Amino acid sequence: MNNQGIGTRCVQAGYTPGNGEPRQVPIIQSTTFKYDTSEDMGKLFDLEASGYFYTRLQNPTNDHVAAKIAALEGGSAAMLTSSGQAANFFALFNICECGSHIVASSSIYGGTFNLIAVTMAKMGIEVTFVSPDADEDELNAAFKDNTRAMFGETIANPALTVLDIEKFAKVAHAHGVPLVVDNTFPTPVNCRPIEWGADIVTHSTTKYMDGHGAAVGGAIVDAGKFDWMAHADKFPGLTQPDESYHGIVYAEKFGKEGAFITKCTSQLMRDFGCIQSPQNAFILNLGLESLHVRMPKHVENGLAVARFLEGHKKVVKVNYPGLESDKYHELAKKYLPNGGCGVVSFELEGGRAAAESFMKKLKIAAIETHVADARTCCLNPATSTHRQLTDEQLEAAGIPAGLIRISCGLEDSADLIADIAQALE
Ligand SMILES: *Cc1c(COP(=O)(O)O)cnc(C)c1O
Repeated sequence: MNNQGIGTRCVQAGYTPGNGEPRQVPIIQSTTFKYDTSEDMGKLFDLEASGYFYTRLQNPTNDHVAAKIAALEGGSAAMLTSSGQAANFFALFNICECGSHIVASSSIYGGTFNLIAVTMAKMGIEVTFVSPDADEDELNAAFKDNTRAMFGETIANPALTVLDIEKFAKVAHAHGVPLVVDNTFPTPVNCRPIEWGADIVTHSTTKYMDGHGAAVGGAIVDAGKFDWMAHADKFPGLTQPDESYHGIVYAEKFGKEGAFITKCTSQLMRDFGCIQSPQNAFILNLGLESLHVRMPKHVENGLAVARFLEGHKKVVKVNYPGLESDKYHELAKKYLPNGGCGVVSFELEGGRAAAESFMKKLKIAAIETHVADARTCCLNPATSTHRQLTDEQLEAAGIPAGLIRISCGLEDSADLIADIAQALE
């Protein structure tokens, strides 16, 4: 399947029905699964056989859709989570514990910033934030003996900085830790971080993958390339016996390709239960079937709106990596040759107050805490998603108080531009 084009994978990967079976991925709406003997079921509990016993850990509908996402990203294994937040938490907590340290780009989604800086800190996991623009020496200096992961976003929400994935991967690997990349905004249609050295890829499938604002969800993909055994002392959870499964060693039993996702499912899903409902996985799969058709239109609308805003006298600054004038244009040409996404951010003359009055006048673009669906929407991060950040943190994250984020949907670009033009008048 990985030799096929991205469009064929969007439509076909992950589920191949047998003779007379349903053409569409079936929704297995069942909490539990029946076995003939306790012995059969016992093998599942010992991880001696693969199969299903309880939907808090695994469900066949989810696994079909996760297999599609693994194929899209070029990974060896994947799992669905209840949200993007759960995906990023699981991806990091699967290899970090009390006393660990993470190096993360400061230019990331507000929810992820909070998760790492506040909630994971309460679990005894420290973080050092680095600028996405930091050079190799600065990145190296952020690492400590107890660093267990490096984290960044391909295109940051909402700052729209582009991550130099190769540079981050090189530094992470020099310190014997994996690079985790949140690839929500470009989706694997526009960038596949594993091809540039990322080890673990995460998604809020709530965004373009679903694409219709219908189902909250997340996904974790393992490249299957990181050699846990070569850094065994750093990752005891993968390289030492798991007493809760009769002493199995994940990295030995499941290899580089399977260890990460198997451990994440059998420990974190078992204990936290943040699984995506099979209904939502089904809806997500409908979105994935047209992802390769929708992304180019989001990019086309994003670029058209960015170009219009750039030429308007009331607009101070436009962030859109597809614009030649953008600070991240060179990185975008390398990592996002077909464009990035439909999200554009910009600053109006007059700051926060001007942003609020502009947004009120929009007729097509609605004010929503959302991005990346078929309908255009907008938001002022400083008064919504990033409310809990101080002005200094906002500045470090590249989000001035007056910034407006507009997520261009799938409408006609001429109508979007006309709407923005009348609101700017
Ligand atoms: C929305 C988002 C998240 C969080 O995802 P949810 O599905 O809302 O939990 C994480 N990362 C990025 C880049 C996002 O845009």
